[in-house]
Amino acid sequence: MAYDQNNIFAKILRQEIPCITVYEDEYTLAFMDIMPQATGHTLVIPKYQAVTLLDLPASELTYTMHTVQKVVHAIEKGLNAKGIVLMQLSGESAGQTVPHVHFHLIPSSVHDLKEHASNMADQTELKLLAEKIKAAF
Ligand code: 5GP
Repeated sequence: MAYDQNNIFAKILRQEIPCITVYEDEYTLAFMDIMPQATGHTLVIPKYQAVTLLDLPASELTYTMHTVQKVVHAIEKGLNAKGIVLMQLSGESAGQTVPHVHFHLIPSSVHDLKEHASNMADQTELKLLAEKIKAAF
């Protein structure tokens, strides 16, 4: 599938729409999910333009997973989380709604997840959570 330059994460990467960032470097960005499936739900994306996991070169995947690990550590420490659900949806058939590859980092149990991409969180609360995560790097 061709990469859609107008998908929402491409716009976030171009800073055309805002996001609540918790971590950024040359190759990756981590930010709060606006419709979290649990408190502290964070997304990690490569800056590389890939739709699904299979479109991501191995070197980019390796770097992105390194960021995932760093952010998981910060979420656990900053939010006193006991465990993280790491989720990656590749393809519409799997339920992927944004066609730029990303990893969901959800401090919760797989048995307690709220509905996917359904309920908008309070922005002030998301900003407070992001501050706690950022302070834990
Ligand atoms: P997917 O369904 O593609 O695996 O996940 C996309 C995720 O992006 C969902 O969890 C959804 O809540 C989140 N999302 C959708 N639009 C936005 C947005 O504009 N900003 C942020 N921060 N998250 C978004």
